[in-house]
Amino acid sequence: MTLRLCQRPRASCGACCGLYNAQDHGREAAAPLLRRRTERLRRTERTLPAFRAAAAALAAEGPAPLFRSVRVCPLLGYLDEAESRVGCLAHPLANGGVELRAAGVYDVMTCEMFLCPSHAWLTEEEAALCEACTTPDWHLYGLVVTDVEFLRSALGAVAALTGARVEARHLTRQPFRQALARLLALKQELAPGSDGLFGAFKPGRDGGEVRRTIDYEALARETSPYDTILTCVGADPRSGNDLDALEDEVQRRLQACERAFRLPGPG
Ligand code: SF4
Ligand code: SF4
Repeated sequence: MTLRLCQRPRASCGACCGLYNAQDHGREAAAPLLRRRTERLRRTERTLPAFRAAAAALAAEGPAPLFRSVRVCPLLGYLDEAESRVGCLAHPLANGGVELRAAGVYDVMTCEMFLCPSHAWLTEEEAALCEACTTPDWHLYGLVVTDVEFLRSALGAVAALTGARVEARHLTRQPFRQALARLLALKQELAPGSDGLFGAFKPGRDGGEVRRTIDYEALARETSPYDTILTCVGADPRSGNDLDALEDEVQRRLQACERAFRLPGPG
């Protein structure tokens, strides 16, 4: 079965359309931007020239991309009135069958065929766990589903504490699901412009991605037992984040997961 990550029954992602590719990647900045685009495109005639003109006007409003190698498409918006689902507003399914993606930053074939690396790495079970923990937050889902190392290391750290692999049935217990969601939400709570936004990578001088590491030697301390999680959330002091504070926070949230896991209940 083909793994589906972009539009799932309860989750949606727009990361490869540039959703987080801005200095301020937080939900508070992204949500009004998506609303503005959605409202503008709803009023736009369903023709390529009209969509191209609207896309140009929206692109001129910004924001500037943080990674120059990743484009920011102004045709990404909300697919529903409740603003619970992000997606392509130029897709035929959003336009009564009219194909308008050529007005975006890629050609139609690229938009149609592209699958991010998570499709090759994640299992359906991991994708379902990510969906269950982040619903109904599209902002968090996209941040986590595109950071395989972070998701895996977080689930692995919880399993190491509880002695049991995290399974979908465990998430039917609300306290545990909420505690796990809090752990994953570390991705969402970083300071604007934080290196942690793109997982273990940072923008290079040429606009490409460069792997990040935490220089424990320079800090004269041992490698953290949560090194992968911390690297993925940008806990390198050189990035401006506080390594010790983030390490403590990771530990606190992991312990909360363990406590919630051990609460009596079904599953
Ligand atoms: S980043 Fe991956 S999961 Fe997200 S929309 Fe793009 S291809 Fe889909
Ligand atoms: S046109 Fe392509 S890049 Fe733009 S929002 Fe749609 S799928 Fe994403």
